[in-house]
Amino acid sequence: MPETTDLCHPETVRVAASHQAEAEKIAAELAAIASSGMVLPGSITQRRTRCGRRNCACHADPPRLHGPYWQWTRKIAAKTICRWLSADQHRDYQPWIDNDRRLRELLARLEALGAAAFDADPRRERQASRASSRTGTEASR
Ligand SMILES: [Zn+2]
Repeated sequence: MPETTDLCHPETVRVAASHQAEAEKIAAELAAIASSGMVLPGSITQRRTRCGRRNCACHADPPRLHGPYWQWTRKIAAKTICRWLSADQHRDYQPWIDNDRRLRELLARLEALGAAAFDADPRRERQASRASSRTGTEASR
């Protein structure tokens, strides 16, 4: 582990070697995905549709639906945005969607490491016992 004098990490908070090793593995994978530039949010779903013509095979029994068509769906400010994709686009962009999902998993693991380190910090116990012995008015200062 390299010796660092990082301003973001004062001496009192040092991460365990196993924590550091895990973080570096995550960072390497994050960097590989990010530098590919192939990241797309949302999901791609297959759609099969019925048309409006009553005598079309899509209304038969059993129905032979149109498609498959591919649709890329994502949320922007709580609004769902959809775009139709060609089969080629579906093939090309599905890995981008998978990369985005992986980035989120890796970030979640990194955050879990941080939360575990916080929980293992011995000062947490002292703060918890101090807070419970305080009255509500003193708690915020
Ligand atoms: Zn039809």
